[in-house]
Amino acid sequence: MDLDTPIEYLKGVGPKRADLLKKELQIYTFRDLLYYFPFRYTDRSKYFKINEISSDASYVQIKGKIRNMQVVGQKRGKRLSAWLQDDTGKIELLWFKGIRWFKDAFNEDTEYIVFGKPSLFNNRFNIPHPEIEPASERKDNLGNTLQGFYNTTEKLKSRGLSSRNISKIIKTLMGKLPGNIKENLPEYILSMLRLTGREEALINIHFPKDLDILKKAQARLKFEELFFIQLRLLHHKAGRNKKVSGHVFIKIGDYVNGFYKHHLPFELTGAQKKVIKEIRNDLGSGKQMNRLLQGDVGSGKTLVALMSMLIALDNGFQACFMAPTEILANQHYETLGRMLDSMGIKIRLLTGSTKAAERKEILSGLLNGEIHILTGTHALIEKPVVFKNLGLVVIDEQHRFGVAQRARLWEKSSRPPHVLVMTATPIPRTLAMTLYGDLDISIIDELPPGRKKIKTHHFYDSKRKKLFGFMREQIKQGRQIYIVYPLINESSTLDLKDLMDGYESICREFPLPEYAVSIVHGQMKHADKDHEMQRFIRKETQIMVATTVIEVGVDIPNASVMVIENAERFGLSQLHQLRGRVGRGADQSYCILMTGYKMTHEARLRIETMVQSQDGFELAEVDLRLRGPGDLQGTQQSGIINLKIANLIRDEKILKYARSLAYEILNKDPDLSSENNVRLRKYLSYLNKTSPNWASIG
Ligand code: ADP
Ligand code: MG
Repeated sequence: MDLDTPIEYLKGVGPKRADLLKKELQIYTFRDLLYYFPFRYTDRSKYFKINEISSDASYVQIKGKIRNMQVVGQKRGKRLSAWLQDDTGKIELLWFKGIRWFKDAFNEDTEYIVFGKPSLFNNRFNIPHPEIEPASERKDNLGNTLQGFYNTTEKLKSRGLSSRNISKIIKTLMGKLPGNIKENLPEYILSMLRLTGREEALINIHFPKDLDILKKAQARLKFEELFFIQLRLLHHKAGRNKKVSGHVFIKIGDYVNGFYKHHLPFELTGAQKKVIKEIRNDLGSGKQMNRLLQGDVGSGKTLVALMSMLIALDNGFQACFMAPTEILANQHYETLGRMLDSMGIKIRLLTGSTKAAERKEILSGLLNGEIHILTGTHALIEKPVVFKNLGLVVIDEQHRFGVAQRARLWEKSSRPPHVLVMTATPIPRTLAMTLYGDLDISIIDELPPGRKKIKTHHFYDSKRKKLFGFMREQIKQGRQIYIVYPLINESSTLDLKDLMDGYESICREFPLPEYAVSIVHGQMKHADKDHEMQRFIRKETQIMVATTVIEVGVDIPNASVMVIENAERFGLSQLHQLRGRVGRGADQSYCILMTGYKMTHEARLRIETMVQSQDGFELAEVDLRLRGPGDLQGTQQSGIINLKIANLIRDEKILKYARSLAYEILNKDPDLSSENNVRLRKYLSYLNKTSPNWASIG
């Protein structure tokens, strides 16, 4: 049997269900199904009594008869309600979707086994959309006390693909496995770590006989998953260093020296010096640099980028500096221009709104080498942009760039440029090890001197009067203020209305001529945005009402108050980014988090954490814990985070061990050519052939 056989050929699936499995769960082949693991297991032998259900019960399994099934409510409130009764009481079961299907599928007065999460409504428990099966079907031959539960969707359920039935088709697949699953870990690793064999683990993860066997299967598959990610990353990194030679920049010349002596506006911090040294070493090493620079907001990464670009210039090369938004690209252009103009360095700005004539001129300037540094947005990685000799690419706030976009940079010259990726979104170590496992990492762990701690407060909406009073007082002292609204979706008209309402009420509260208010949001034309930004920068307006377009990088030292509306709607790292817009000058800065009284437990935790901590790394850890890595900014675009079984938080120990073992193995046997490592070599080349080649992206 070939595991790559399309899923429709599995008995019990067929073309219609196959289509759904593809669309809803991305299951295309036998292999995909095999690797679709249960997300939870329950002990099939244990039942809850209805009168035992309490508010701290998570999932419960109950056996009882269905009574009084009926469709109730109108329109959006329409639902199917049924009561499940056992000998201790009854509980309501509810379906909001697939009403007709479920109504036909169940019979009153028949015994069912129901599994679900009780929720409390009007002081009574109900179970919305439970898993449900006739009790009579329980006597089938699955034979284990532990039953796996598979994530499924309403659509799938209404076509008969409940968790239960997914389990059944997997059972069919199991019959075909023996002899078809090749072990991919060498004997020495299996015996050293006492890991279950691959085939056995894949069977047991779906149909564990008991908890102990399940744990062993999980341990094996988690290790396998994390180990091969690390092996692949490290192998790739080593290969790249061997194959790709980098431009050698050993000269430190007039640009670097001149800037350092005459134009550096302040003393570099120790951390900046350390990082610049690391970059200098890379650039002179003959290897192509692939470095991730992490530094909290305001830690002075721009200057590090600038110094690095000057090294490229001193060696006769060009550099480019790419930012995720026009506002930020503009700002980089101006900051760099201010510092470099007098040194005869030619910098240009290229964005989506650069006019055709200017664009043409820029393109020719890049090609003939007249332009030294190009700053801009994605526009600068488009095809027609060709450099004479691009030596260094700096990508700021890289999490906004898709993986594919970064890959395009490599096409810009025959020999790949050095790449410096900068981010202020502190990434927890375990995540960084996986996301950027093939990059070298530099960290700026020190802020420029004299920064005052940003005072962070949480106000309920009812304290708005107090907020306005505080704002007036700050403006009187000459400060400027940001007010940010959560435009989760920049094109959503509903969110935009919130923003415009907010803007109008601020204008009413802070009327002309005494006050002036700017507004910036994603749906404005670039020129208008820029105009509003410039008014704020020139201090013609005191208040800037904005969406999160303001989040990244914008540097206006006189703005010392950040008000975040509906702060409960933001994630921690975003809140931290926003807060980082203030605290850049000498004055005491403030961050005010506005929320309503109603907040989820998690939102409350986020707000409390923000008030207490200003350490980006600490916040990132909490964020990862609260939300899971899949939801962290920027991680969605990276396929490697779609782990099937391992968890970057809970399995930190396994991850670290897997990485160090992969490192050790490659150290001794870089090409995996020894007899012992045949399985690793084969599986790695299989992975490189089949999964998207994320690792080749610098
Ligand atoms: P980020 O790391 O968030 O990109 P920036 O590069 O924008 O931070 O720097 C934040 C502010 O700190 C800027 O106003 C910059 O001029 C200033 N700055 C950078 N390095 C130093 C330093 N060594 N001493 C004093 N101020 C600095
Ligand atoms: Mg920055």
